[in-house]
Amino acid sequence: MPNMPGYKKTAQTEKKKAFSGKREFYTTEYNTTAWRKLRADRLRRDPICHKCKRAMATVLDHVTPVRLGGEFWNEANHQPLCEKCHNSKSAKERFMK
Ligand SMILES: [Zn+2]
Repeated sequence: MPNMPGYKKTAQTEKKKAFSGKREFYTTEYNTTAWRKLRADRLRRDPICHKCKRAMATVLDHVTPVRLGGEFWNEANHQPLCEKCHNSKSAKERFMK
C-alpha cells in the first residue's frame, strides 16, 4: 500500500478523539451537583440577563469560555444570560480558537 490511506485516517481519528475527550471533561463539570447549585444560587441572586438586561436569565454562562482558557469555577468568569443571548454568544464563539 504505497499511499497508506489507512494510516492517515487513523491519525485524524486519534486527533478527533483527543479533542472530544477534552470537551467531555467540561461536560462532566457541568453535570456536577456543585455546578448546578452554584448556577441556581447565582441566577436567584442575579436573575436578569447581563447582555440584553431585559429577559430572565436561564443560563449561567462563562464570560471567557472554558474551552478558550476561562476558569470554570471562578465566579468572576460567570454571567447570567437569557437563552437567546447565550445562543448568539455561543454561535460567535464557535469561530474562535
Ligand atoms: Zn438576554
